[in-house]
Amino acid sequence: MLFSNFFAPTSKDTPADAKIASHILMLRSGMVSQAASGIYYWLPLATRVLEKISRIIDEEQARINSQKMYFTTIQSADLWIESGRYEAYGKEMLRLKDRKDGDFLYSPTNEEQATDIFRKYVKSYRGLPLCLYQIHWKFRDEIRPRFGVMRGREFLMKDAYSFDINFEGAKASYMKMFQAYIRTFRRMGLTPIPVQADSGAIGGNMSHEFQILAETGESTLYYDKKLPTASDEELMNIFAVTNEKYDPNTSSIPENELMVSKGVEVGHIFYFGTKYSKAMNAFVLDENGNKLYPEMGSYGIGVSRLIAAIIESSHDERGIIWPEAVAPFDVTLLNLHHKNEKCREAAQKIYEAINGHRKCSAPTQKEVLYDDREISIGEKFADADLIGIPWQVIVGEKKIKNNLVELKNRKTGEIIEMSPEEIIERFGKKC
Ligand code: ATP
Ligand code: MG
Repeated sequence: MLFSNFFAPTSKDTPADAKIASHILMLRSGMVSQAASGIYYWLPLATRVLEKISRIIDEEQARINSQKMYFTTIQSADLWIESGRYEAYGKEMLRLKDRKDGDFLYSPTNEEQATDIFRKYVKSYRGLPLCLYQIHWKFRDEIRPRFGVMRGREFLMKDAYSFDINFEGAKASYMKMFQAYIRTFRRMGLTPIPVQADSGAIGGNMSHEFQILAETGESTLYYDKKLPTASDEELMNIFAVTNEKYDPNTSSIPENELMVSKGVEVGHIFYFGTKYSKAMNAFVLDENGNKLYPEMGSYGIGVSRLIAAIIESSHDERGIIWPEAVAPFDVTLLNLHHKNEKCREAAQKIYEAINGHRKCSAPTQKEVLYDDREISIGEKFADADLIGIPWQVIVGEKKIKNNLVELKNRKTGEIIEMSPEEIIERFGKKC
């Protein structure tokens, strides 16, 4: 992609209404733009990151047999009246009327629809276990939308729904999802802290929130200081709670073994038994022809919130520092002297080699943003650091005389000199 063709309206100015780093940097780097309170346009840079995150989620869901589909964003109120949540959900639910005066709503979550699709098609215990998920827009009319996309009203969520024959099955599904979440967040360069949670409005008796440490987080976490080095299996039972649940008198951990930090909730998983299957009369027949109400769980990830959480945990005073797995591009190419023929030639050669022809679809292919704009060197560096692509290839007139360019690591600031051929060897397409 040529930066001169790319829609990333960057800005030097700190927006007046943005208070936390992720919000400021997402606005300044031209990732998002506010459309209304708590509602954002997702511009191309941010969309690339949403897609990278979604792909990691898809791969980890596939490993545990969770199948992707789409529920709907607009739902009929009928299902919610059946489950008893239509009134209970309160003002966070955006309610709509169609032209026939029918009651509809914009999905804040999809337990009812998942239960409905299940009862329509699954009639036998042989159809279990089943796990379905989507990555789709949600709307919650939050009382205080704030911190940009961190707490928006419209946001992108991954939500999965599991159906099992009995408690043991449901628990196994829950544990599989728990492990998939740990892997998902680790692949994004994050350290997830799973905390035992109250299940709130969704109800039930087994629930974990996945928190990411960040000073600007809304939750205060109390956790065993061994947690960051715990194995995946240990993580499920190690002591970690939010301030709402923490009671120093009943804590199983002495104070000197406790860590206290702020966190952002990026995921939340629930087991809620037969709450919806019974309320909505979703049942299957067992081997003896008896009615059996499936045990259910639901499992959310705040995909759009994750972008803000990743930035909160990975930035410096100059801008974003993307972990490689979710970066909008793998490498950015800066031609500092666009009027110099040697620089232009070298940059063009590197660009074409990395970018390749469109036919190549090897998954190892690296994506490059080539800053070919006719702007000052200072502006190019500032934008590259602001946007935060992990690797910068810098082509300048002095070095190129000796057939050298610089490769800079955005995170460490480390620079190594290489020939254009070595850069191509490292980042070029391999197919
Ligand atoms: P919170 O306590 O932050 O309001 P929640 O418990 O209401 O979250 P869930 O219903 O479990 O959230 O939704 C699953 C995930 O969706 C959350 O873990 C969070 O990452 C994300 N999420 C929830 N509300 C919002 C929001 N208003 N804006 C962005 N992401 C959100
Ligand atoms: Mg909420």
